[in-house]
Amino acid sequence: MINVTKTYLPDFDEYCSILKRAWDKSWITNNGELVQELEYKLKNFLNVQHLFYTSNGTVVLQMALKALNITQEVITTPFSYVATTNAILWEGCKPVFVDIDPDSLCIDASKIEAAITDKTQAILATHVYGIPCDTEAIDKIAKRYGLKVIYDAAHAFGVTYKGKSLLSYGDISTCSFHATKIFHTVEGGCIIANDEQLAERLLLQRQFGHIYDDYYCVGINAKNSEFHAAMGLCVLPKINEIIAARKTISEWYDSLMPNIKRPQLNGEAQYNYSYYPIIFNTESELLKVVAHLKEQEISGRRYFYPSLNELPFIEKQSCPVSEDISSRVLCLPLYHGLSTSDVKRISYCILNNL
Ligand SMILES: *Cc1c(COP(=O)(O)O)cnc(C)c1O
Repeated sequence: MINVTKTYLPDFDEYCSILKRAWDKSWITNNGELVQELEYKLKNFLNVQHLFYTSNGTVVLQMALKALNITQEVITTPFSYVATTNAILWEGCKPVFVDIDPDSLCIDASKIEAAITDKTQAILATHVYGIPCDTEAIDKIAKRYGLKVIYDAAHAFGVTYKGKSLLSYGDISTCSFHATKIFHTVEGGCIIANDEQLAERLLLQRQFGHIYDDYYCVGINAKNSEFHAAMGLCVLPKINEIIAARKTISEWYDSLMPNIKRPQLNGEAQYNYSYYPIIFNTESELLKVVAHLKEQEISGRRYFYPSLNELPFIEKQSCPVSEDISSRVLCLPLYHGLSTSDVKRISYCILNNL
């Protein structure tokens, strides 16, 4: 069975030896030594100002909206994981979908202005598959209209854009360290801010809004544990090796299927190769290939389908580009350890069924 992804697990004894530091102190959560060390190392690795390690990559989207006092309309992308839209809805805000750019598959910045109303307060965009949004254009629009910018950078760990971490852009960037993501801590995530005051607020929010007996704001429990941080401390030193292995596999796919349509990468970015999406000519072609892959016990994933503007629990808005791409995009298996022969088998199965 070849799944679309396979979690990278470190040596078990190494994990235990790091965890033992927390175990010996009987201090297993509440900003323990391992959480602090992971935060410090992540901040260095990503070269960002303020970073807080959290329990997942969804609660940080909610915290971002809350910390920036967003209560009304949020301009967002329809081509992302459902958590992006859910966070907006969960916070009682209204998602306003702006269609995507057909090449980068990120929000089409040239269509944002037309969607701004007097209720618009923020832009929440996703660097989908780690491809950078048009950050300059978004930044300009945000400044002109006084909007906050949040990037869902769940796919962008380790990606650099114009020489700096893609996670350093916007008022706030968030990331997910779920087991299916390129850098993981089983479950986990982080929130990154450049502004000091905003960072203080996020820190408070993560821990119920108080420090000892002083209560400052409404908070939530978004902390993570020493067990999770220990996994992060094992995986982080391997991240460059993981990215390099995925790059090699991606290049095998490229050379075996040179004529398959793919999202267009940005020449100013250094990628993490977190996904290998391909775009079929039609949905029926995609379904045929998926069925043939399944016969060989290979699973791709329709990531992302459906287009989020078509979710059954929101007021329908039209985004023709996203709806079209969503119907015919498939992410192929890509993980550390996937063999050349498997990549060949997958590629031939696709090419034989086009
Ligand atoms: C995975 C993912 C999330 C959610 O992260 P969790 O850690 O699973 O909560 C949010 N946004 C995007 C784009 C994702 O891919």
